[in-house]
Amino acid sequence: VNPQTLTKPHADKVQKVEYPENDGTREKAAFVTLARNSDLWDLVPSIRHVEDRFNRRFHYDWVFLNDEPFDKEFKRVTSSLVSGKTKYGVISKEHWSVPDWIDEEKAALARDKMVAEGVIYGESVPYRHMCRFESGFFFHHDLLKEYEYYWRVEPEIRLFCDIHYDVFRFMKINKKKYGFILSLSEYESTIPTLWKTTKEFMKEHPKNVHSNNLMNFISDDNGETYNMCHFWSNFEIGSLDFWRSEAYQAYFDYLDKTGGFFYERWGDAPVHSIAAALFLDKTELHFFDGIGYYHPDFYSCPVEENIRTQNQCTCNPSDDNTWYDYFFCTRKYFDAQKLSLPPVVNKV
Ligand code: GDP
Ligand code: MN
Repeated sequence: VNPQTLTKPHADKVQKVEYPENDGTREKAAFVTLARNSDLWDLVPSIRHVEDRFNRRFHYDWVFLNDEPFDKEFKRVTSSLVSGKTKYGVISKEHWSVPDWIDEEKAALARDKMVAEGVIYGESVPYRHMCRFESGFFFHHDLLKEYEYYWRVEPEIRLFCDIHYDVFRFMKINKKKYGFILSLSEYESTIPTLWKTTKEFMKEHPKNVHSNNLMNFISDDNGETYNMCHFWSNFEIGSLDFWRSEAYQAYFDYLDKTGGFFYERWGDAPVHSIAAALFLDKTELHFFDGIGYYHPDFYSCPVEENIRTQNQCTCNPSDDNTWYDYFFCTRKYFDAQKLSLPPVVNKV
C-alpha cells in the first residue's frame, strides 16, 4: 500500500500531518522492551502483533533490556520472531539500585503506608527501579546510543490495525518528538509531591520551559495544580534525543535528588508526560490514530469505520476508551491543542 493513497483519520487531518513515502529511506530507530526472563510468554504475542501489523514491512531492530542477563530461551524465542536485528542488554547497577542519598528506613515506611492505603505496586521496590529507569536512564543505555527514535513495547499488548507507513519516518518528516495513543489519569497517591517539585524546578530553570508548551493538558489552572493527565507510557514512539537533552536531564536529576521515586512511587508516565508537555513545542507532540492498541486494562480502537476497514482492524469500537470523558484525557489533549474532535465522538 502506498501511504499517499491512505485515507487519513480525522485526527491526522486536523493535526495536519503527512505520511512518509515508502521509498526505502530508514531512520535510526528501534523497538525497546524492558523485560524479565519470566515475561517471555507474555511478550511473545506482543512482538508477533507488532511484527504482523508493522515491522514485517520495515524490519527495524529490537533492543531488549533487563536488570539480569537474558537467558538462552528468551533470546532464542524473541530473535526468531523479530524481522530486524535483536540486541540484548543488561542494565548497569547504577541505573537499577537505590541511590546513596535515599534513607532506606524512610523509604520502607513509605512503602508500608502505601500498602495500607491499597496503592497498586505500593510495596514493590523493583517496580520503583523500573519507573526510575524508564524515566531517567533507558535512553542512555549503550545499545540505544546509535538510535534517534524508539518505540516502547511491553508484554501483553496488542495492535489491532495495519500500519502502512513508517512511523519513525513519520516522526522525522513531521518534526515530532513524542507520540502516544491513550492518555488517562494518574492515581494521586503515587505522586503526592511530584507537582510541587516540578514547580520548584520551573522556578529555578525558567528557560527550560518552552514558550509554546502544552501546560493546558496537564493543568486546569495555568500550572497551579496538576490535573493527573498523562500519556500512557507503555506505548511511546519518541525521540531519544529529547530525553537526552539538557532540559530533560536537568529535570530528571532534580526529581531524582528529592527521592520521590522511592519515598513515593513516581511513575515514568507522569514524569515523561509533564516533561513533554512543558519542555517541547506543543506541535512536537502527536496523538496516533488508526492503530488500535490494548494494554491491560484499556483499549484504543479507531472510532471511524472507514479507517477500521482500510487498516483491517480487528478491534471492537465499543471497547474504545480514548474518548471517555471520565478518567481518560484525550479530549483534554484535543482541547489543549485546539483540535476539533472526530465528528463521531463529538455527539457523545
Ligand atoms: P504496568 O504496565 O505498570 O502494570 O507494569 P509492568 O509490569 O508491565 O512493567 C512495565 C515494564 O517494565 C514491562 O515491560 C515489564 O516487563 C518491565 N518490568 C517491570 N518490572 C521489571 C523488573 O523487575 N525487571 C525487569 N527487567 N523488567 C521489569
Ligand atoms: Mn505493562
